Amino acid sequence: MTTFAELGLAAPLLEALTALGYEEPTPIQAEAIPSLLEGKDLLGQAATGTGKTAAFALPLLQRLAGTPPVPHKPALLVLVPTRELAMQVGEAFHRYGRALGTSVVPIYGGQAFDQQIRILRRGVHVVAATPGRALDHIRRGTLDLSGLAAVVLDEADEMLDMGFADELESILDAAPAVRQTALFSATLPPRIAKIAERHLKNPVRLNVARAETVAGDGPLVRQTAYLVSRGQKVAALGRILDIEAPTLALVFCRTRTEVDTLTETLGGHGYRAEALHGGMTQDARDRVMKRTRSGAVDLLVATDVAARGLDIDQLSHVVNANVPESPAAYVHRIGRTGRAGREGVAITLVEPKEHRLLRNIEASTKQRITMAQLPTFLDVQAKRLGLTTAAVGEAIVAGESEAYRVVVESLTETHDLMEIAMAAVQLAHERGPGAGAKEEEKIDLTPPRDPKGLRRERPPRTAGLARIFIGAGRKMNVRPGDIVGAIVNEAKVAASEIGAIEIADRFSLVELPEEHIQHVITALRASTIKGKKLTVRRDLAGKR
Ligand code: AMP
Repeated sequence: MTTFAELGLAAPLLEALTALGYEEPTPIQAEAIPSLLEGKDLLGQAATGTGKTAAFALPLLQRLAGTPPVPHKPALLVLVPTRELAMQVGEAFHRYGRALGTSVVPIYGGQAFDQQIRILRRGVHVVAATPGRALDHIRRGTLDLSGLAAVVLDEADEMLDMGFADELESILDAAPAVRQTALFSATLPPRIAKIAERHLKNPVRLNVARAETVAGDGPLVRQTAYLVSRGQKVAALGRILDIEAPTLALVFCRTRTEVDTLTETLGGHGYRAEALHGGMTQDARDRVMKRTRSGAVDLLVATDVAARGLDIDQLSHVVNANVPESPAAYVHRIGRTGRAGREGVAITLVEPKEHRLLRNIEASTKQRITMAQLPTFLDVQAKRLGLTTAAVGEAIVAGESEAYRVVVESLTETHDLMEIAMAAVQLAHERGPGAGAKEEEKIDLTPPRDPKGLRRERPPRTAGLARIFIGAGRKMNVRPGDIVGAIVNEAKVAASEIGAIEIADRFSLVELPEEHIQHVITALRASTIKGKKLTVRRDLAGKR
């Protein structure tokens, strides 16, 4: 196992990574970081979700460290296809480079020039830009590439698909001949190969999509994936777990911080959840494992590193809270269930931007991962009633209820036997495995209960948010995934921007930042949901 330190990263970066809860490099990081630290060019085939941003940001930050920023002349230019990615890459550099004092600015179209120019004039180390806007600044003389030590083309195939080929050529031609260049692309069609040939010098080639594949004699595992937005994740996971009713599930997260947060939230949801990560002492981990073996745990929430040494074979489910960064990691994780001839279940939550990564895994493993619809509140309720029915049935068969005969007899003096039975089942249901199902869960994306068992109020709608009304709901089988899908695909709004979604019988309400409302309404009116044209309008009622 390689560590970040073994890859040659310096102390301030290692400290930043520890603080972020990263435990070990992803495959692309392990391969890319040493080469980029040495100053080599790089051609990497990698999709979003593989950890590629850190793969180039960390070594390039280290190479820039100590140089003061120069007005209008950044040392590093990262070109990306979209405004969202410019912001994400900018944030990543900021997170990793804070201790080094690195300054970074995202630059994209649609934003006023003034502010961008002011920051460029002051001088920054790193510019993360969309090609069109970068070229505008170069032509205005507000961005000068003569000081560049390195250029990164991120998601190069996307940039070409968006018609930025000419801009890319002009920008690369304006960059100094002596510089370092890294190109990342999910696919490597001939057009990309041509750019690489023209602009990269003896690049190191990496391909994380092509990890080793598994043969057909792997374990018996039912593989399902759910498309969820980031904000939906915890609620969706709670609901999926309610339906799946695992006896013991191993839930994988990317970082220690995610492990801690998810453990706490799922604990508040009524699960006996325990965290396992590299930051815990051996003693603490042993205690968790002892509890697990004794059957006192439903969910083990872990990072890959912490799960590696685990020896448990009674796992019914493996859950990936994110798509793992490589096919090999996926195969390794799901191989922990379905042992000893029992059927295992692997569940993967997929954010819209990770979709491509999931398809890579399918292609690489040659196994089908079924995309499923998130269970509805009604599905969950039906499942829970089923559990209660079974539990009452088992109690009758066990024949150990004799002690309660006098209670029933005394109740029959004033009540009907059926009424008594119904009330008793209700009490059993509310205290049994179905206990968590309450009205609040009819609403999608509401925060789950907090660990003290108190219900949190929904956060008040903030000033920047508004709601749209869509004239279809549960009766038409509309699920949150349909709405998120329609908004992301038709209106090109990032799933992370979508707020709460409430689905009633005949309509749905979606919270969105005010700035997107009109645009989303126009886009949805022009398209269909579940094959139907629907009423879409601004929701003025403000209440359901
Ligand atoms: P990317 O492929 O660059 O979009 O990264 C995907 C996600 O993985 C981001 O949320 C990163 O913060 C996270 N990430 C990147 N590298 C690691 C790592 N070594 N360990 C844990 N999380 C990581």
